[in-house]
Amino acid sequence: MRAVEIIAKKRDGLPLSAEEIDFFIQGYVRGEIADYQAAAWAMAVYLRGMTEEEIIALTMAMVRSGEVVDLSGLGAPVVDKHSTGGVGDKTTLVVAPLVAALGLPVAKMSGRGLGFSGGTLDKLEAIPGMRVTLSLEEFLATVRRTGIVVAGQTAHLVPADGKLYALRDVTATVASIPLIASSIMSKKIAGGANAIVLDVKVGRGAFMEDLAHARELAHLMMRIGQGVGRRVTAVLSDMNQPLGLAVGNALEVAEAIETLKGRGPRDLCEHCLVVASEMVVLGGAARDTGEARQALEQALASGAALERFRVWIAGQGGDPHVVDDLTLLPQAPHRLTVPAPRSGYLAALDAQEIGLTAVMLGAGRARKEDAIDPRVGIVLRHKMGDYVEQGEPLAIIHAADVASAQAAATRFLGACQWAEGPVQAPPLIYEILRGD
Ligand code: URA
Repeated sequence: MRAVEIIAKKRDGLPLSAEEIDFFIQGYVRGEIADYQAAAWAMAVYLRGMTEEEIIALTMAMVRSGEVVDLSGLGAPVVDKHSTGGVGDKTTLVVAPLVAALGLPVAKMSGRGLGFSGGTLDKLEAIPGMRVTLSLEEFLATVRRTGIVVAGQTAHLVPADGKLYALRDVTATVASIPLIASSIMSKKIAGGANAIVLDVKVGRGAFMEDLAHARELAHLMMRIGQGVGRRVTAVLSDMNQPLGLAVGNALEVAEAIETLKGRGPRDLCEHCLVVASEMVVLGGAARDTGEARQALEQALASGAALERFRVWIAGQGGDPHVVDDLTLLPQAPHRLTVPAPRSGYLAALDAQEIGLTAVMLGAGRARKEDAIDPRVGIVLRHKMGDYVEQGEPLAIIHAADVASAQAAATRFLGACQWAEGPVQAPPLIYEILRGD
């Protein structure tokens, strides 16, 4: 078998056999297949698609590229969640401690920013000292000790996704159902969780812009998970505008902490409670979502979830004092207030454009070896449907320098649309697909 033949076959729209897919993935991980060949292959998959059989073979080849975690020793069902990627999506930072506060261990493998979307690992690394590259032993020891672990792929855990993910980010091959489904489900299967809640984002700031494609992706990932004995629920949620108000790594950590203190934006808080409720039910800690929600609201109000966050951060080497003093998080040296250019109702806050504005500020990557700037980003002052007076602050840009702040302000204003009359904001949750 030769890599070039496999690339050509996919380029010509032909299905690959499980053996060919495995050969390609393991060869890439071992360094026998070059980045440029993997990039060509990923583009061929992006353009030609894959059959469900191929996607399952790809997922399992990625799982086999590393070790599979055995979490059965934890003595409780382990629940996991994964977002298909969005802008301002700091859900994990809130739901992991919330769910753990109810006694369910959370062991999660996350990713970095991808294209215009942010990544949980980049957000966590904004916390001074926080370590997200853990060995398998550390991953297990951490969840045993603190009840929560969130880490990236390592040389041990789905290394194929670690390499492919970084490559896709910079080769315009992210928004592909086969590549997203295999990336997410390989991490979930190798991560060892018994139950998984998939947060499938829909809209301008998601890789699936319409509900039909989001449903297709959700059903496919559910079938992959159920095929290997996992319980899977999918929440289809809106991503036309950013989730919450903050976009940018340290800014999102601060917003997640505020949310755990009960002072977060309403949409973010509601979204986190919906996702966490599904996790709690799947993990068997509540009979239904009503009961789960009550317990979760209690964990928020009592400060139990915030305490869990502190323990989690300290458990991975981070400075837990950030909880009490948000100024310990990296701060951008320049802040620029963007005033509303007119009065009216905010009819659109294009999440993709806002995500790209954050990337332009340095919150994401243009090349896979690029470092990100944890300090920068955008904090919205208004959301879709709000009435805003001309000159009122629309957003605050956090930037490394004046020039990038001004360029970001211009791009941000291009992401806004206005209407004379009232505008209905999109629903937060479109539907929930439960596997049983
Ligand atoms: N999240 C992932 O982990 N992988 C993708 O491909 C997209 C979102």
